[in-house]
Amino acid sequence: MDAISYQRAADVDGAISAAQRPGAAFIGGGTNLLDLMKGGIEHPVTLIDITRIEALDRIDTLPDGGLRIGALVRNSDAANHTLVRTRYPLLSQALLAGASPQLRNMATVGGNLMQRTRCAYFYDTAFAQCNKRAPGSGCAAVGGFNRMHAILGASAQCVAVNPSDMSVALAALDATVQVRGPRGARTIAFGAFHRLPGDRPDLDTTLQSGELITSVDLPPPLFSEHAHYLKVRDRASYAFALVSVASALQLDGHRVRTARIALGGVAHRPWRANVAEQHLAGRTLSASTLREAAAAELAQAKPLSGNAFKVGLAQRAIIRSTMLAAGQGNRDGDFA
Ligand code: SF4
Repeated sequence: MDAISYQRAADVDGAISAAQRPGAAFIGGGTNLLDLMKGGIEHPVTLIDITRIEALDRIDTLPDGGLRIGALVRNSDAANHTLVRTRYPLLSQALLAGASPQLRNMATVGGNLMQRTRCAYFYDTAFAQCNKRAPGSGCAAVGGFNRMHAILGASAQCVAVNPSDMSVALAALDATVQVRGPRGARTIAFGAFHRLPGDRPDLDTTLQSGELITSVDLPPPLFSEHAHYLKVRDRASYAFALVSVASALQLDGHRVRTARIALGGVAHRPWRANVAEQHLAGRTLSASTLREAAAAELAQAKPLSGNAFKVGLAQRAIIRSTMLAAGQGNRDGDFA
Protein backbone atom coordinates (compact mmCIF):
# COMPACT_ATOMS: atom_id res chain seq x y z
CA MET A 1 0.00 0.00 0.00
CA ASP A 2 1.28 3.47 -0.87
CA ALA A 3 1.56 6.15 1.81
CA ILE A 4 -0.55 9.18 0.82
CA SER A 5 -0.68 12.59 2.41
CA TYR A 6 -3.96 14.49 2.39
CA GLN A 7 -4.56 18.21 2.23
CA ARG A 8 -7.81 20.15 2.02
CA ALA A 9 -7.73 23.30 -0.13
CA ALA A 10 -9.78 26.30 0.97
CA ASP A 11 -9.65 28.15 -2.35
CA VAL A 12 -8.43 27.84 -5.94
CA ASP A 13 -5.12 29.60 -5.32
CA GLY A 14 -4.35 27.30 -2.40
CA ALA A 15 -5.20 24.22 -4.46
CA ILE A 16 -2.98 25.32 -7.35
CA SER A 17 -0.13 26.15 -5.00
CA ALA A 18 -0.37 22.74 -3.30
CA ALA A 19 -0.46 21.01 -6.69
CA GLN A 20 3.05 22.21 -7.55
CA ARG A 21 4.51 19.46 -5.38
CA PRO A 22 5.67 16.36 -7.26
CA GLY A 23 3.10 13.57 -7.17
CA ALA A 24 0.18 15.81 -6.18
CA ALA A 25 -3.30 15.12 -7.51
CA PHE A 26 -6.64 16.89 -7.07
CA ILE A 27 -9.51 14.84 -5.71
CA GLY A 28 -13.17 15.81 -6.06
CA GLY A 29 -15.84 13.09 -6.06
CA GLY A 30 -13.12 10.46 -6.40
CA THR A 31 -15.35 8.09 -8.35
CA ASN A 32 -12.62 7.28 -10.85
CA LEU A 33 -9.40 8.27 -9.08
CA LEU A 34 -9.98 5.98 -6.10
CA ASP A 35 -10.58 3.01 -8.41
CA LEU A 36 -7.35 3.83 -10.24
CA MET A 37 -5.45 4.03 -6.96
CA LYS A 38 -6.90 0.80 -5.62
CA GLY A 39 -6.00 -0.93 -8.88
CA GLY A 40 -2.39 0.24 -8.67
CA ILE A 41 -2.70 2.32 -11.84
CA GLU A 42 -2.26 5.77 -10.32
CA HIS A 43 0.03 6.51 -7.39
CA PRO A 44 -0.44 10.07 -6.11
CA VAL A 45 1.82 11.10 -3.25
CA THR A 46 -0.45 13.93 -2.06
CA LEU A 47 -4.20 14.19 -2.52
CA ILE A 48 -5.50 17.74 -2.58
CA ASP A 49 -9.16 17.71 -1.64
CA ILE A 50 -10.90 20.47 -3.58
CA THR A 51 -14.47 19.68 -2.54
CA ARG A 52 -14.72 22.55 0.00
CA ILE A 53 -13.96 25.29 -2.53
CA GLU A 54 -17.37 26.93 -2.54
CA ALA A 55 -16.75 29.14 -5.54
CA LEU A 56 -16.63 26.07 -7.80
CA ASP A 57 -19.90 24.59 -6.59
CA ARG A 58 -22.27 26.94 -8.42
CA ILE A 59 -24.25 27.25 -11.62
CA ASP A 60 -24.52 30.85 -12.84
CA THR A 61 -25.80 32.58 -15.93
CA LEU A 62 -23.19 34.43 -17.98
CA PRO A 63 -23.59 37.99 -19.31
CA ASP A 64 -23.93 36.69 -22.89
CA GLY A 65 -26.85 34.43 -21.89
CA GLY A 66 -24.73 31.31 -21.54
CA LEU A 67 -24.28 29.21 -18.42
CA ARG A 68 -21.27 28.58 -16.19
CA ILE A 69 -21.26 25.22 -14.44
CA GLY A 70 -18.69 25.07 -11.66
CA ALA A 71 -16.25 22.18 -11.74
CA LEU A 72 -17.47 20.86 -8.39
CA VAL A 73 -21.16 20.75 -9.28
CA ARG A 74 -22.27 17.13 -8.91
CA ASN A 75 -23.45 15.40 -12.07
CA SER A 76 -26.93 14.83 -10.62
CA ASP A 77 -27.25 18.50 -9.60
CA ALA A 78 -26.19 19.67 -13.06
CA ALA A 79 -28.58 17.27 -14.78
CA ASN A 80 -31.54 18.35 -12.66
CA HIS A 81 -30.86 22.10 -12.55
CA THR A 82 -33.78 24.02 -14.02
CA LEU A 83 -31.63 26.08 -16.39
CA VAL A 84 -29.80 23.00 -17.66
CA ARG A 85 -33.02 21.06 -18.18
CA THR A 86 -34.84 23.86 -19.97
CA ARG A 87 -32.02 25.51 -21.94
CA TYR A 88 -29.63 22.60 -22.48
CA PRO A 89 -31.76 19.45 -22.45
CA LEU A 90 -29.07 17.65 -24.46
CA LEU A 91 -26.66 18.01 -21.54
CA SER A 92 -29.24 16.95 -18.99
CA GLN A 93 -30.08 13.83 -21.01
CA ALA A 94 -26.43 12.91 -21.45
CA LEU A 95 -25.67 13.32 -17.74
CA LEU A 96 -28.62 11.13 -16.77
CA ALA A 97 -27.47 8.45 -19.23
CA GLY A 98 -24.16 8.14 -17.40
CA ALA A 99 -23.26 5.73 -14.59
CA SER A 100 -25.75 5.11 -11.75
CA PRO A 101 -27.68 7.53 -9.49
CA GLN A 102 -25.21 6.88 -6.66
CA LEU A 103 -22.22 7.72 -8.86
CA ARG A 104 -23.92 10.78 -10.34
CA ASN A 105 -24.53 12.03 -6.79
CA MET A 106 -20.79 11.88 -6.07
CA ALA A 107 -19.13 12.61 -9.43
CA THR A 108 -18.33 16.21 -10.29
CA VAL A 109 -18.46 17.97 -13.65
CA GLY A 110 -14.70 18.58 -13.59
CA GLY A 111 -14.00 14.98 -12.62
CA ASN A 112 -16.26 13.71 -15.38
CA LEU A 113 -14.02 15.50 -17.89
CA MET A 114 -10.95 13.85 -16.38
CA GLN A 115 -12.17 10.26 -16.11
CA ARG A 116 -9.97 7.77 -17.88
CA THR A 117 -10.76 5.11 -20.44
CA ARG A 118 -12.48 1.91 -19.33
CA CYS A 119 -10.25 -0.30 -21.49
CA ALA A 120 -9.98 -3.54 -19.51
CA TYR A 121 -6.27 -3.93 -20.27
CA PHE A 122 -5.63 -0.48 -18.82
CA TYR A 123 -7.35 -1.37 -15.55
CA ASP A 124 -5.80 -4.82 -15.14
CA THR A 125 -2.12 -4.56 -14.23
CA ALA A 126 -1.74 -8.31 -14.84
CA PHE A 127 -1.51 -7.31 -18.52
CA ALA A 128 1.98 -5.98 -19.17
CA GLN A 129 1.06 -4.32 -22.47
CA CYS A 130 -0.69 -0.97 -22.21
CA ASN A 131 0.88 2.17 -23.64
CA LYS A 132 -1.51 4.36 -21.69
CA ARG A 133 -0.54 2.83 -18.34
CA ALA A 134 3.07 1.93 -19.17
CA PRO A 135 4.32 3.99 -22.15
CA GLY A 136 6.28 1.93 -24.65
CA SER A 137 4.91 -1.43 -23.48
CA GLY A 138 2.56 -1.99 -26.42
CA CYS A 139 -1.19 -2.26 -26.73
CA ALA A 140 -2.89 -5.51 -25.74
CA ALA A 141 -6.23 -4.41 -27.16
CA VAL A 142 -5.08 -4.08 -30.79
CA GLY A 143 -4.78 -7.84 -31.14
CA GLY A 144 -7.00 -8.73 -28.18
CA PHE A 145 -10.57 -8.21 -27.03
CA ASN A 146 -11.50 -4.92 -28.67
CA ARG A 147 -15.27 -5.00 -29.04
CA MET A 148 -15.67 -1.76 -27.01
CA HIS A 149 -12.79 0.09 -28.63
CA ALA A 150 -12.29 2.87 -31.16
CA ILE A 151 -13.25 2.95 -34.82
CA LEU A 152 -12.26 6.58 -35.41
CA GLY A 153 -9.09 8.57 -34.74
CA ALA A 154 -7.12 5.74 -33.11
CA SER A 155 -3.42 5.03 -33.51
CA ALA A 156 -1.32 1.88 -33.44
CA GLN A 157 -0.32 2.95 -29.93
CA CYS A 158 -3.82 2.99 -28.43
CA VAL A 159 -7.38 2.20 -29.50
CA ALA A 160 -9.16 3.16 -26.28
CA VAL A 161 -12.30 5.28 -26.14
CA ASN A 162 -13.34 8.13 -23.88
CA PRO A 163 -16.13 6.87 -21.58
CA SER A 164 -17.94 10.13 -20.74
CA ASP A 165 -21.54 10.75 -21.81
CA MET A 166 -21.52 14.33 -20.53
CA SER A 167 -18.55 15.18 -22.72
CA VAL A 168 -20.35 14.08 -25.89
CA ALA A 169 -23.10 16.60 -25.25
CA LEU A 170 -20.57 19.31 -24.35
CA ALA A 171 -18.74 18.68 -27.62
CA ALA A 172 -21.95 19.15 -29.60
CA LEU A 173 -22.80 22.32 -27.64
CA ASP A 174 -19.38 23.93 -28.25
CA ALA A 175 -18.68 24.35 -24.55
CA THR A 176 -15.42 25.74 -23.24
CA VAL A 177 -13.35 24.54 -20.30
CA GLN A 178 -12.08 27.23 -17.93
CA VAL A 179 -8.84 26.33 -16.14
CA ARG A 180 -6.40 28.01 -13.76
CA GLY A 181 -2.83 27.08 -13.13
CA PRO A 182 0.50 28.46 -12.01
CA ARG A 183 0.68 30.63 -15.14
CA GLY A 184 -2.84 32.04 -14.75
CA ALA A 185 -6.23 31.35 -16.27
CA ARG A 186 -7.00 30.12 -19.75
CA THR A 187 -9.97 28.94 -21.82
CA ILE A 188 -9.82 25.68 -23.73
CA ALA A 189 -12.30 25.03 -26.55
CA PHE A 190 -14.05 21.76 -25.81
CA GLY A 191 -12.84 20.14 -29.01
CA ALA A 192 -9.25 20.84 -27.97
CA PHE A 193 -9.56 19.55 -24.40
CA HIS A 194 -9.46 15.77 -24.98
CA ARG A 195 -6.70 14.34 -27.20
CA LEU A 196 -6.51 11.69 -29.85
CA PRO A 197 -3.92 9.08 -28.78
CA GLY A 198 -1.26 9.58 -31.47
CA ASP A 199 2.07 8.49 -30.05
CA ARG A 200 1.26 9.80 -26.53
CA PRO A 201 -1.75 7.77 -25.39
CA ASP A 202 -0.71 8.33 -21.79
CA LEU A 203 -2.02 11.90 -22.20
CA ASP A 204 -5.81 12.07 -22.23
CA THR A 205 -6.20 15.85 -22.24
CA THR A 206 -4.35 19.06 -23.01
CA LEU A 207 -4.49 20.14 -19.38
CA GLN A 208 -1.03 21.09 -18.19
CA SER A 209 0.65 20.05 -14.98
CA GLY A 210 -0.84 21.78 -11.93
CA GLU A 211 -3.84 23.20 -13.80
CA LEU A 212 -7.27 22.98 -12.19
CA ILE A 213 -10.58 22.98 -14.06
CA THR A 214 -12.72 25.73 -12.57
CA SER A 215 -15.85 25.55 -14.74
CA VAL A 216 -17.44 24.43 -17.96
CA ASP A 217 -19.04 27.33 -19.82
CA LEU A 218 -21.91 26.90 -22.25
CA PRO A 219 -22.65 29.42 -25.00
CA PRO A 220 -26.14 30.94 -25.22
CA PRO A 221 -28.70 28.18 -25.81
CA LEU A 222 -29.49 27.60 -29.48
CA PHE A 223 -30.70 24.01 -29.33
CA SER A 224 -33.22 23.82 -26.51
CA GLU A 225 -36.06 22.89 -28.89
CA HIS A 226 -34.39 20.22 -30.99
CA ALA A 227 -31.90 18.03 -29.16
CA HIS A 228 -31.55 14.38 -28.31
CA TYR A 229 -28.94 12.15 -26.67
CA LEU A 230 -29.07 8.50 -27.70
CA LYS A 231 -26.95 5.92 -25.92
CA VAL A 232 -26.66 2.37 -27.24
CA ARG A 233 -25.27 -0.07 -24.68
CA ASP A 234 -25.32 -3.72 -23.73
CA ARG A 235 -27.78 -3.25 -20.85
CA ALA A 236 -30.34 -0.59 -20.08
CA SER A 237 -28.44 1.20 -17.29
CA TYR A 238 -25.04 1.46 -15.64
CA ALA A 239 -23.10 0.50 -18.76
CA PHE A 240 -20.70 2.40 -20.97
CA ALA A 241 -21.77 3.25 -24.50
CA LEU A 242 -21.08 1.01 -27.44
CA VAL A 243 -22.03 4.09 -29.41
CA SER A 244 -23.74 7.28 -28.33
CA VAL A 245 -24.91 10.30 -30.30
CA ALA A 246 -25.64 13.85 -29.23
CA SER A 247 -27.78 15.58 -31.85
CA ALA A 248 -28.79 19.23 -31.80
CA LEU A 249 -30.57 21.10 -34.57
CA GLN A 250 -31.78 24.52 -35.57
CA LEU A 251 -34.60 24.06 -38.07
CA ASP A 252 -36.47 26.31 -40.47
CA GLY A 253 -39.51 24.14 -40.96
CA HIS A 254 -38.03 20.88 -42.20
CA ARG A 255 -34.84 22.55 -43.46
CA VAL A 256 -31.69 22.25 -41.33
CA ARG A 257 -30.18 25.63 -40.52
CA THR A 258 -27.53 24.21 -38.20
CA ALA A 259 -26.71 20.65 -37.19
CA ARG A 260 -24.45 19.68 -34.32
CA ILE A 261 -23.67 16.01 -33.94
CA ALA A 262 -21.11 14.35 -31.66
CA LEU A 263 -20.40 10.66 -31.10
CA GLY A 264 -19.31 8.79 -27.99
CA GLY A 265 -17.87 5.31 -27.61
CA VAL A 266 -16.06 5.48 -30.93
CA ALA A 267 -12.84 7.45 -30.31
CA HIS A 268 -10.28 8.54 -27.73
CA ARG A 269 -12.20 11.79 -27.41
CA PRO A 270 -15.80 12.82 -28.06
CA TRP A 271 -16.01 12.72 -31.85
CA ARG A 272 -17.52 15.77 -33.48
CA ALA A 273 -19.21 14.61 -36.69
CA ASN A 274 -18.16 17.56 -38.83
CA VAL A 275 -18.66 15.72 -42.12
CA ALA A 276 -22.23 14.75 -41.26
CA GLU A 277 -23.00 18.25 -39.98
CA GLN A 278 -21.83 19.86 -43.21
CA HIS A 279 -23.81 17.37 -45.26
CA LEU A 280 -27.02 18.27 -43.42
CA ALA A 281 -26.66 22.06 -43.38
CA GLY A 282 -29.22 23.70 -45.64
CA ARG A 283 -30.95 20.44 -46.58
CA THR A 284 -34.40 19.15 -45.85
CA LEU A 285 -34.18 16.67 -43.01
CA SER A 286 -35.21 13.17 -43.97
CA ALA A 287 -34.11 9.63 -43.22
CA SER A 288 -32.40 9.41 -46.62
CA THR A 289 -30.48 12.70 -46.13
CA LEU A 290 -29.40 11.48 -42.71
CA ARG A 291 -28.40 8.11 -44.13
CA GLU A 292 -26.07 9.89 -46.58
CA ALA A 293 -24.65 12.15 -43.86
CA ALA A 294 -24.01 9.25 -41.49
CA ALA A 295 -22.38 7.16 -44.22
CA ALA A 296 -20.12 10.07 -45.17
CA GLU A 297 -19.03 10.52 -41.55
CA LEU A 298 -18.29 6.84 -41.00
CA ALA A 299 -16.43 6.47 -44.30
CA GLN A 300 -13.29 7.34 -42.34
CA ALA A 301 -13.84 4.55 -39.78
CA LYS A 302 -11.12 1.93 -39.29
CA PRO A 303 -12.66 -0.88 -37.26
CA LEU A 304 -10.66 -3.46 -35.34
CA SER A 305 -11.03 -7.25 -35.40
CA GLY A 306 -13.89 -7.22 -32.87
CA ASN A 307 -15.84 -4.03 -33.46
CA ALA A 308 -16.78 -3.71 -37.14
CA PHE A 309 -20.40 -3.77 -35.97
CA LYS A 310 -19.89 -0.27 -34.55
CA VAL A 311 -19.60 1.26 -38.03
CA GLY A 312 -23.17 0.40 -38.97
CA LEU A 313 -24.39 0.93 -35.42
CA ALA A 314 -22.99 4.47 -35.35
CA GLN A 315 -24.69 5.29 -38.65
CA ARG A 316 -28.05 4.01 -37.47
CA ALA A 317 -27.62 5.82 -34.15
CA ILE A 318 -26.90 9.11 -35.93
CA ILE A 319 -30.05 8.72 -38.01
CA ARG A 320 -32.27 7.84 -35.06
CA SER A 321 -30.87 10.41 -32.64
CA THR A 322 -31.13 13.24 -35.15
CA MET A 323 -34.65 12.33 -36.23
CA LEU A 324 -35.66 12.24 -32.57
CA ALA A 325 -34.04 15.63 -32.05
CA ALA A 326 -36.21 16.93 -34.89
CA GLY A 327 -39.31 15.38 -33.34
CA GLN A 328 -39.72 13.07 -36.33
CA GLY A 329 -39.26 9.68 -34.73
CA ASN A 330 -40.33 7.66 -31.78
CA ARG A 331 -38.06 6.35 -29.06
CA ASP A 332 -38.95 2.69 -29.44
CA GLY A 333 -39.12 1.99 -33.12
CA ASP A 334 -38.67 3.39 -36.56
CA PHE A 335 -39.36 6.84 -37.81
CA ALA A 336 -42.87 8.16 -38.15
FE1 SF4 B 1 -3.79 0.47 -23.12
FE2 SF4 B 1 -4.98 2.00 -24.94
FE3 SF4 B 1 -4.17 -0.38 -25.63
FE4 SF4 B 1 -6.20 -0.16 -23.91
S1 SF4 B 1 -6.21 0.49 -26.04
S2 SF4 B 1 -4.46 -1.56 -23.79
S3 SF4 B 1 -5.64 1.73 -22.84
S4 SF4 B 1 -2.83 1.30 -24.96
